[in-house]
Amino acid sequence: MRIDIITVLPEMLEGFFNCSIMQRAQTKGLAEIHLHNLRDYTHDKHRRVDDYPFGGFAGMVMKIEPIENCINALKAEREYDEVIFTTPDGEQFSQPMANTLSLARNLIILCGHFKGIDYRIREHFITKEISIGDYVLTGGELAAAVIADAVVRIIPGVISDEQSALSDSFQDNLLAAPVYTRPADYKGWKVPEILLSGHEAKIKEWELQQSLERTRRLRPDLLGE
Ligand code: SAH
Repeated sequence: MRIDIITVLPEMLEGFFNCSIMQRAQTKGLAEIHLHNLRDYTHDKHRRVDDYPFGGFAGMVMKIEPIENCINALKAEREYDEVIFTTPDGEQFSQPMANTLSLARNLIILCGHFKGIDYRIREHFITKEISIGDYVLTGGELAAAVIADAVVRIIPGVISDEQSALSDSFQDNLLAAPVYTRPADYKGWKVPEILLSGHEAKIKEWELQQSLERTRRLRPDLLGE
């Protein structure tokens, strides 16, 4: 899968995508992340990406032209499954959405800034608008990082033990069961006996019971209760 991220702050994302599992996914050839500096798609000498809003409102608005230039340059090279805009008034990001997006071949993610982008871009270029939660950030970069991370980590082979991604919270609408590691007894705090039994079927059953109990208690909304 290939993800093209359009931003005015590529340096904010470089470190993130060159670390840990995101880096490994790219080294293994399972994901390609390309950062595009919007200013490279301007044609004026000040490389302006924003301008004053019509109507006399406060703040600045991202201009159509550089964004159109960048999206068109990308679309000339390949077909995109979605052109995503990160925005607080978009559809709330979720694990099912990440699962669906992870099946895509090519994605564009556009990061907004200032007061947002000229609405005509949203009407004519954007195919999907995503919010990462009901709060306002200064820019779309963190949202793009969140979306790309959640999507890339579930591509088969990215996490070495595939089972591990499937047993995480929100797959099957359940929260994950608690996890433990050595020592089995830490100053008298003991790991649940069943996990030391080696009885695979009983351990699976315990895991499911724990997931159900925790989901009922902490997130009954996930069970539709
Ligand atoms: N005026 C806008 C907020 C602009 S915030 C409004 O009231 O809706 C600047 C940019 O940050 C946005 O264009 C968007 O790309 C990004 N952003 C801020 N909060 C976000 C969120 N919760 N989810 C996704 N992107 C967000």
